Amino acid sequence: MIKISQALYVRVALSIAIVAIVVTLVSSTLSYYSGFKEKKNTNYLLVQQLAQTMGKTAAIAAYLNDRELSQEIINGLLSNDLVQGASLEGEANAKGEMELFIASGSTNKKNEAVLIKLIHPFIEGSFIGVLAIYPDDKFIEQQAKSSLIKEFLLMLIQSIVIAFFVSLVVRKWLTQPIQNLTDSFATIDPTNPETMTMLEFKQSKRDEISRLTHGINALMHELKLTISNEQSLRKKTQELEAKFRLIFEQASAGICLLDDNNIITTFNPAFKHYFTVPGEEELSTLHFPALLNNVDELQSLLADIRCDKNPPQATLDIECKVGHKTIWLHCLFVRLTEQREAKRNAHQEHLVEVILHDVTERAEREFQTRFEADHDPLTGLLNRRAGEKRLKKALRECIKHNEHLVLMMIDLDKFKPINDTYGHEAGDKVLIEIAHRFKTLFHEKNDICIRLGGDEFIVAQQIKTYDKTATQQKANALLNELKHDINIAQNKTCAVGASIGIAVSPNDGNELVALMVNADNMLYHIKETGRGKTAFYDDIKN
Ligand code: GH3
Ligand code: MG
Repeated sequence: MIKISQALYVRVALSIAIVAIVVTLVSSTLSYYSGFKEKKNTNYLLVQQLAQTMGKTAAIAAYLNDRELSQEIINGLLSNDLVQGASLEGEANAKGEMELFIASGSTNKKNEAVLIKLIHPFIEGSFIGVLAIYPDDKFIEQQAKSSLIKEFLLMLIQSIVIAFFVSLVVRKWLTQPIQNLTDSFATIDPTNPETMTMLEFKQSKRDEISRLTHGINALMHELKLTISNEQSLRKKTQELEAKFRLIFEQASAGICLLDDNNIITTFNPAFKHYFTVPGEEELSTLHFPALLNNVDELQSLLADIRCDKNPPQATLDIECKVGHKTIWLHCLFVRLTEQREAKRNAHQEHLVEVILHDVTERAEREFQTRFEADHDPLTGLLNRRAGEKRLKKALRECIKHNEHLVLMMIDLDKFKPINDTYGHEAGDKVLIEIAHRFKTLFHEKNDICIRLGGDEFIVAQQIKTYDKTATQQKANALLNELKHDINIAQNKTCAVGASIGIAVSPNDGNELVALMVNADNMLYHIKETGRGKTAFYDDIKN
């Protein structure tokens, strides 16, 4: 409820009353001054008329020098409210004596007196005295004031009555309908369309308030529809969002979004889990490539994906270190095309979505399987199939870079008797130790150690500049190394020798088969001629 002093109709009535009072005051004051002058003039005229009327009687009194009559005339004049004083004086006689002078009332303001010259009753044009009448200014002023007050009071009453009626009319036709509208509005909750009931108004009336109500109702109807639609849409969106959020947050795959600088803008808990080292709260960096340790490769891959000409997605298996742990992540990178369009309009670059799966177990299994497929289970050296593959690759590289591949074909001498004497297990130990010695002596990155089968091995070296003497020394060193005792059981040792056939590419063949055949021939040759030695293919070739 509003205060009565704030009610529109009260304020209108008060405004009218105040304006009326001010206007009344101003107009009354103006009419007071103009009325006072007018009244004064009118009264002067009346006094003059009175003086004219009394003039002849006064002339007779002056002519007769009758003091009694004169006094009666003066008293008669004074009985009039308009007169405050009067005097009658006759002409001075020949001796200059004033024979008649009678005055009564206030006769001070000579300049304001109405003077009537008394003419001789019988001699035309002869003056015999003066009758002076002094008008009562205070009486005139009082009259003007009282008429002003009456006028003021009348206007005030009129104004109050008008103000009262205007306030009634304003209240009935304006304030009350507005109040009704306001009360109806108060029941409406903008967040709840159910409360948006139509405001009541008389259809028959076509005044401004009815039209306003009609307009508000139409607007409210639309608003109600819009809010209802918007609310149901928001509800659906929230449900969808909750579902997507659930998927995003509960996904076992790590998901993140990269901006055009490869900075991670959003990531899910699984993503955080991959990269958070126990004990650390936050991700150490938000630059994605730096997170995975191989910055350059990833940056170029991400740049390729962002290029419109390239396919919008790519996969990559990445090995990375998190803390002390090494994990394998299968990464799927996807260019977000829809967002890209939207962002382009806003002068922004492409976003990339990254989905990560921890494939460490699978990778390790694959690695193990591949290792087992490629390596001899006893010695851990490359097996024949994988070894030949590596040798072919090394040969291609040597041809490409004008380098040499030294291939040593090795067969242990008299190994069978070890098996026969100490048992197969002891033979295995010998083979393991021999393989270890190969790997120790040929430990460079490009060195290759292969167990072809049984007690037959190949070691190969990729050499920039071939030096036969150096190769000879290396082969001798190998023979010496192999001769050292090998522990086969507690307090039991044995020693084994070996024969080595050597072929070097490209001189002794550019094909692996040729090189192997040539080295094998040399090995056979040594076996035939005493064992425990080395032989170069080019020795017999020349
Ligand atoms: P040679 O000096 O002429 O080379 O004769 P050798 O005694 O070394 O015999 P040879 O090379 O002809 O045969 C190799 C033997 O190695 C045959 C086989 O009994 C033995 N052998 C092959 N594979 C294994 C294995 O995996 N473990 C063990 N303990 N012995 C093996
Ligand atoms: Mg042998």
